Amino acid sequence: MSGSRTTRIVRAPRDTHLSCKGWQQEAALRMLMNNLDPEVAEKPEQLIVYGGAGKAARDWEAFDAIVAALRRLESDETLLVQSGKPVGIFRTHPDAPRVLIANSLLVPAWATWEKFWELEAMGLTMYGQMTAGSWIYIGTQGILQGTYETFAACAAQRFGGTLRGRWVLTGGCGGMGGAQPLAITINEGVALVVEVDPARIRRRLETGYCDRMTADLDEALAWVERAVAERRPLSVGLVGNAAEVFPELVRRGRIPDVVTDQTSAHDPLNGYVPTGLGLDEAAELRRRDPEEYVRRARASIKVHVQAILDMQGRGAVAFDYGNNIRQQAREAGLERAFDYPGFVPAFIRPLFCEGRGPFRWVALSGDPADIHRIDDAVVETFPDDERLVRWIQTAREKVAFQGLPARICWLGYGERARMGLVINELVRRGEVKAPVVIGRDHLDAGSVASPNRETEGMRDGSDAIADWPILNALLNTAAGATWVSVHHGGGVGIGYSLHAGMVVVADGTDDAARRLQRVLTCDPGLGVVRHADAGYDRAVETARRAGIDMPMLPR
Ligand code: NAD
Repeated sequence: MSGSRTTRIVRAPRDTHLSCKGWQQEAALRMLMNNLDPEVAEKPEQLIVYGGAGKAARDWEAFDAIVAALRRLESDETLLVQSGKPVGIFRTHPDAPRVLIANSLLVPAWATWEKFWELEAMGLTMYGQMTAGSWIYIGTQGILQGTYETFAACAAQRFGGTLRGRWVLTGGCGGMGGAQPLAITINEGVALVVEVDPARIRRRLETGYCDRMTADLDEALAWVERAVAERRPLSVGLVGNAAEVFPELVRRGRIPDVVTDQTSAHDPLNGYVPTGLGLDEAAELRRRDPEEYVRRARASIKVHVQAILDMQGRGAVAFDYGNNIRQQAREAGLERAFDYPGFVPAFIRPLFCEGRGPFRWVALSGDPADIHRIDDAVVETFPDDERLVRWIQTAREKVAFQGLPARICWLGYGERARMGLVINELVRRGEVKAPVVIGRDHLDAGSVASPNRETEGMRDGSDAIADWPILNALLNTAAGATWVSVHHGGGVGIGYSLHAGMVVVADGTDDAARRLQRVLTCDPGLGVVRHADAGYDRAVETARRAGIDMPMLPR
């Protein structure tokens, strides 16, 4: 770490030397730092990792205090972090989490952006997004696999299993949205991504996630159409405002095969740029008159969503990609905003019913060879899962690491525990050089209540029931995860979601093996339970087949 308070650069240590009193504390320390690595974070100088204003720590003073606390934390103590600020250390026991985190939580009747911003300005809270404030963001790769799965499911459902010869229109090329161009080309399709900030597209070109960039709509369309005609994968980043470009495409009758969006519309003040403003003008208006900014952002969002509906009306497959843009459009007066579905009910829920969800790991050694060894181990462990094997091979070829080397894939109930133990064995045998962190996004089967996204349209109407993420965090704490977090507002914004995260460290010891077995069974197991309880047959079958004990499982 170096530099002055405002320009400092944070990067996780890469060696096998401990700066803390144990690998569990060291893992939390390195992952906090890794979240703020300039290769990983979108705006590290403001501690912003991704997803609008998703932060890793409340401010630099709090960051320094967390680092100092982790360095002195004993292996039978637990550090409490309240919205990015370390507030207490208590003696617990070695199998308890080393860190417990609560981010952005508000009493429900107070849970609006306006109240949140007021409390944030008073220095009392911070926005943790999902993996930003819970220290398990791994750069754009983290979402790449989920995005790949989503477009693969869309292709399977609507286009005979491939996007070859099809084009997808989307907005936003930020921390998450930047995965879209590569996920679409891996599915053999053509992507046109509209992004207002050229620096965001440039970053995706540099990391190989996007192929080409232009600010000229005609040129972009010419590239797209040629690639579609030649049935050749291609991704194009178009510098422009989605609320201008989308309606313009409707006017021209250029209707994509698939349309979605990943601007940070969930946060109309910090995440969405209204039409008619350059980036600097937008920043100036945001500072000078936040209310007017939000009004203009919502007005643009309304136009943007209307264009998506128009495209859907002319045959495009439209889905909301988890940024709550439909809600913002409805608040701006667009009654029909929810006429197109969210991506979870459209494509992902059947996977959740099997406890299948995001599973990621990070090599604390910093050595890419460790991840490559684990890549091989995934293929050796699940040789018959063709989709998984193809993903691991593609990721190895195409994904540039950001920060500490990491990998992600989607695994189901039973598979996650199995893979966790395989990784622990590799650490024990010295086949990887240092312990490995295993965690996940909060976007998972049993860890989130988000009625406009993960729990949209639940079969039993339980969309807004938020007991599940709390049970998830409590269960992972009881099972001995290394750190556990409960957040509010991730993905879709304040007032719209509650969700929980867990991370568990594989350090090659027997204790770690026991913790991994417990955590990686309980965590996806609750996902199966949540969906079986909601009446999904596939989840009921999974629970029965796996012998998950549900006292009231209908016979
Ligand atoms: P980000 O803030 O890093 O990027 C958003 C991008 O949108 C920025 O680059 C910004 O310049 C651009 N943008 C803003 N207004 C625009 C406009 N009018 N036209 C064109 N571009 C515009 O956010 P992110 O991490 O990429 O996340 C994007 C959204 O996706 C967020 O709402 C996030 O909550 C959501 N999300 C979805 C999933 C999922 O699995 N579906 C997961 C995580 C996050």
